[in-house]
Amino acid sequence: MTDLLKIIPQLTIGAVDLVAAFLFMYGLKRMSSPVTAPSGIKVAGLGMAVAIVASFLYAFDVGATAKPFLTVNIGLAVVALAIGGGIAWWAGRKVAMTAMPQMVAIYNGMGGGAAAAIAAVELFGNKADGVTQLVVTLIGALIGAVSLSGSLIAWAKLDEVIKKPLRFQGQQILNALVALATLAIGGYFVAVTHGVITPPVATSDLIYIFFGAALLFGVLMTLPIGGADMPVVISIYNAFTGLAVGLGGFVLQNPALMIAGMVVGAAGTLLTLLMAKAMNRSVSNILFTNFGTVVQQKQGEIKGSLKPVEASDAGIFMRYAASVIIVPGYGLAVAQGQGKLYEFVKLLQAAGVSVKFAVHPVAGRMPGQMDVLLAEAGVPYDMIFQLEDINDEFANTDVALVIGANDVVNPAARTDKSSPIFGMPILNADKAKKVYVVKRGQGKGYAGIVNALFYGDNCDMVYGDAAAVLTKMIEAVRALGTKAAA
Ligand code: NDP
Repeated sequence: MTDLLKIIPQLTIGAVDLVAAFLFMYGLKRMSSPVTAPSGIKVAGLGMAVAIVASFLYAFDVGATAKPFLTVNIGLAVVALAIGGGIAWWAGRKVAMTAMPQMVAIYNGMGGGAAAAIAAVELFGNKADGVTQLVVTLIGALIGAVSLSGSLIAWAKLDEVIKKPLRFQGQQILNALVALATLAIGGYFVAVTHGVITPPVATSDLIYIFFGAALLFGVLMTLPIGGADMPVVISIYNAFTGLAVGLGGFVLQNPALMIAGMVVGAAGTLLTLLMAKAMNRSVSNILFTNFGTVVQQKQGEIKGSLKPVEASDAGIFMRYAASVIIVPGYGLAVAQGQGKLYEFVKLLQAAGVSVKFAVHPVAGRMPGQMDVLLAEAGVPYDMIFQLEDINDEFANTDVALVIGANDVVNPAARTDKSSPIFGMPILNADKAKKVYVVKRGQGKGYAGIVNALFYGDNCDMVYGDAAAVLTKMIEAVRALGTKAAA
């Protein structure tokens, strides 16, 4: 009977962990379709709440000897939860759609940092039980620290605090040396901890040096990356964070943490592979070359001229077209023009025009940003097509309306071997019979290169903020209807 009473609390923790794991999986499954994704996020969030409850049960050591309140730092944990949760709630409500990528980068970094902190507590407290656990703790610390500092640099780049990739001669060699040195310090620490070597410095100093080297490696690894390759970097750090958290769960013997970390790690790895495919690069090429190199393009090599037209003329032209494919890009998010865009689309549809949306996998500044933007405006999912499903249709389409997009429709990716985006599959907007490009001026895209599409014979430029241009297009098309009725 007493044994049974002891087992019940342990079974309770196991059951709570199981519920959390189920909610994570079910939430993730629902996130696989845009229709069910919003509820999927809520289900996964509930899973996280359950996992936190399970962690408190561990902290109280339910089922074993109960520990006094303060020795398990429950009070501190509650305060940390309230502060962290409060900031996240406020930031989540306040963040602009265009700043979401930066927020994701910060959250990746925070996850990595939290995993590294868990590992640090274990290392400083000398709590690792045996070589395997020590090595796992060190790997978690390394990956978490790299993810923290690397994600902060990624945030600075996305937020344009760092404007240019930093490159110098011998950078690859320096990066490799720092990586090797970090691993060597880790190995040395294992040998010291198990009495194989007597260190010249205190073991706690070794831990500081190890973390310093790992953080430096994250910074050095991310600094040279630029051009159009940031999506891959963000998803790599996403995978790193998950992996570090999963290893942290192993160290703490906390199944909920292990499962959550592994789910994020696996999802991040898949996303990395998908993003690498979208950029037409292998993951090893991404990891071991100075990718995203921005070359100085010679403007003179591009033939043709930029031909500005009025928004109203472009709007009326589309009203009389049979088919229009819309290519949304980062500028649409900046302008917050998605609502106006769908309003314009509904006018075209009412006039009998066939309208489709073509979404490039790396359009915007975050994977899936365009899908979210269009969903926010209420665009039905069956009007939205991914690159491989729509690219052949451009050649038979009357108008391609490129709105706030640039790199994802740059034909240099097909033809110019010196271009930083060479090899990346692009949307074939240039093949449409007529192309309208909506942008504010001569601004370049994220890769910082000139776009030959804009100079093409079949292309006209509609200059202005995307939302303002769309307002004019809507007015022009509406005025046609009024004239016809009069
Ligand atoms: P781009 O960054 O290539 O181009 C955006 C264009 O929008 C600019 O040329 C700009 O020109 C125009 N623009 C900006 N503001 C407005 C506005 N208010 N109204 C109208 N136009 C505006 O965007 P794409 O979506 O085509 O490509 C995404 C790029 O970002 C790719 O290179 C991708 O690799 C990279 N990236 C993607 C990430 C992801 O996960 N999706 C993450 C990080 C980077 P102008 O200034 O003249 O208006």
